[in-house]
Amino acid sequence: MKISCQKHIYLIVFILSFFVLFPVKKGLTQSKDASRLSVIVIDPGHGGKDPGTVGGNVEEKNVVLDIALKLGEQIQKEFPDIKVVYTRKTDVFIPLHKRAEIANKSNADLFISIHANAVEQSYVYGTETFVLGQHRSQDNLEVAKKENSVILLEDDYTNTYEGFDPNSSESYIMFELVQDEYKEQSISLANIVQNEFRERAMRKDRSVKEAGFLVLRRTTMPGVLIETGFLSNSSERNYLSSPGGRANIASAIFRAFKTYKTDVEQKSSFHLVTSDVKPQPVPRPVAESKKQAAPAIETKPNTVKKDLYYSIQIAALKKKLNPAAENFEGLTNVFRVDAPPLSRYFSGKYENRSTAEAELSAVQKKYPAAFVVAFHNNQLISVKMAQELEK
Ligand SMILES: [Zn+2]
Repeated sequence: MKISCQKHIYLIVFILSFFVLFPVKKGLTQSKDASRLSVIVIDPGHGGKDPGTVGGNVEEKNVVLDIALKLGEQIQKEFPDIKVVYTRKTDVFIPLHKRAEIANKSNADLFISIHANAVEQSYVYGTETFVLGQHRSQDNLEVAKKENSVILLEDDYTNTYEGFDPNSSESYIMFELVQDEYKEQSISLANIVQNEFRERAMRKDRSVKEAGFLVLRRTTMPGVLIETGFLSNSSERNYLSSPGGRANIASAIFRAFKTYKTDVEQKSSFHLVTSDVKPQPVPRPVAESKKQAAPAIETKPNTVKKDLYYSIQIAALKKKLNPAAENFEGLTNVFRVDAPPLSRYFSGKYENRSTAEAELSAVQKKYPAAFVVAFHNNQLISVKMAQELEK
């Protein structure tokens, strides 16, 4: 269908206003002590007047509430220090924006939204875990449309969501522009969840997927949306409506949470201290996921002065963050230099300019404004000055 010019303008205005009015999902401005995972928000989808998807006489809202409560109980039992926050604990209707608000206000480290699915084809079954992103298939878009369309039950949804129409594919263009500082972490949890479903809970694994979910868009921490199965498939419906089935699903998510927590906390213990800025061979990136494995960097013999090296500046912030990988899009070689009122964050130490520049484009995929800098005697200097010193 041809879109009129005026419609285009509305669309552009809509997309721009979305970015002005809603904070971009950013880790850099939201992080607290990244080394501990201390608050988790569990979000059972739907509730109250919104039953979610319905298969036979089984309603999604009841299935997911029970799984959510079981998950929270297990977390609380094994990790009493962790604060578990639920977006709902009873059969009540909570608007999507409110769910995200609960998570953001709790300063949560993790957001887990629990759902069940349904499609017309009753033979379709299995579990899938979504992270925020751009859908790559019509099926994934349909799941997002279905979950987002709950906003139609909210009063004043047009204003609240800035004209977002959950049923219009055009509305989903904005998700192409989403900058999600937490994507790697969300994907990592999603992968663990699907592994648990497949390997231990013996569920069919329909894989990790991406799509534009409003509730994930508005939260400012790593988050996943788990579709625990299809209520439109009779055997999966039976499984999910049995207490044992729901307990299995909750346990699988719990084990995934545990693994994720250990991973995050172990990675956080790696950081370079600011005063320890010494040239050193570039470490090979730790292969923590296939997605992240950066190309190995060849270091040539040190032909320049030992006290001169190059790096890539990725950010300058008022906040002092632990330069751990999960605060910086999975970059494992970040270090910080404090020069009040700013702290600058750099990725890698390179013995020559060309190696740093070769690495720059990979870093710019995560930090588009990144640029090459140089250090001499631990002082930040311009690349031009460094080149002079090398002569
Ligand atoms: Zn749902």
